[in-house]
Amino acid sequence: MKNLFLRLQADPSLRVLVAEDDPVTARAIYASLQEWGFQALLARNGDEAWELLQKEDVHLAIIDWMMPGLSGLELCQRIREKTQDEEAHYIYIILLTGRDQQSDIIQGFMAGADDYVTKPFDFEELKVRLLKGVRIIEREETRLRLASIDSLTKLWNRKKIMQFFQEEVERGRREGQPTGVIMVDIDQFKKINDTYGHLIGDTVLKEVASRLSRSVREYDKIGRYGGDEFLLTIPGCSLENLKRIARRVRKSVAAEPIKTDKGPLKITISCGGASSSSFPQYSALNIIQAADEALLEAKAAGRNHEAFTEKAQEEL
Ligand code: GH3
Ligand code: MG
Repeated sequence: MKNLFLRLQADPSLRVLVAEDDPVTARAIYASLQEWGFQALLARNGDEAWELLQKEDVHLAIIDWMMPGLSGLELCQRIREKTQDEEAHYIYIILLTGRDQQSDIIQGFMAGADDYVTKPFDFEELKVRLLKGVRIIEREETRLRLASIDSLTKLWNRKKIMQFFQEEVERGRREGQPTGVIMVDIDQFKKINDTYGHLIGDTVLKEVASRLSRSVREYDKIGRYGGDEFLLTIPGCSLENLKRIARRVRKSVAAEPIKTDKGPLKITISCGGASSSSFPQYSALNIIQAADEALLEAKAAGRNHEAFTEKAQEEL
């Protein structure tokens, strides 16, 4: 049983940072991590480790206590400060200490370490301590994922899709690419609830969500914005393409009636679109606002329509 546990391979998406100034120890840990199935990142001192942490996603860190420059303790403190936000990814920290620092271990825990291993260490011990960290990281990642997902439709929730959109808008700005958004709202959805009940309403919401997901590209993101409203973020696409996508999305919902326990129901959606390319100055919020206004236009045009804000308000 013990051997079986020790033979377990790690999830290869897990990244472990090793901050160790002794090259022999660093290489030995690096080789073992790879053998156990982790992705390993090597830093030769505390400062290099801190720099790497700004660029890379790291799940676990093995940090030497004594390093020139930024010490292991200081690095622990900085990591904890950087990740104190409850939405930040947790980094599980194992400190490597010499025997003479064992009495200082309380200081290590106070600085934010989760565990420690005393040098010279046994690799099987390091492995089981890492696996203990993996269990915690996996739970944390699940918790973070669940906090970002709408439980009914399994799409991103409002907070997360807004966050994604803000990131896309900033990336688009840096790369000189337009960022588009499509706001979707189910037509006359209240009537579905009132006529067939909320459970049937829920079935419709789930099926619309799934049709929306199937009708966009892999790197477009979809979230439930609220009630019967959905938000699609469409990076790197012209207004002309945005129109094509909105039309395709709308038709993907209207094409076939949705099967429910009360029989097949004809459901349609309306779409409002806007793109950063319509604004000389833009923010995620004013693009969304423009899409919202376009959605009202689509509703006013008789529903099962799409409409777009082609020119920003300040330009009219
Ligand atoms: P319009 O065509 O103008 O959009 O009309 P509508 O009837 O769809 O109006 P509106 O978009 O305002 O209606 C949204 C409805 O969605 C109201 C609310 O009761 C219902 N709703 C919101 N969340 C849920 C949910 O989780 N499940 C169900 N079944 N209904 C929901
Ligand atoms: Mg509606």
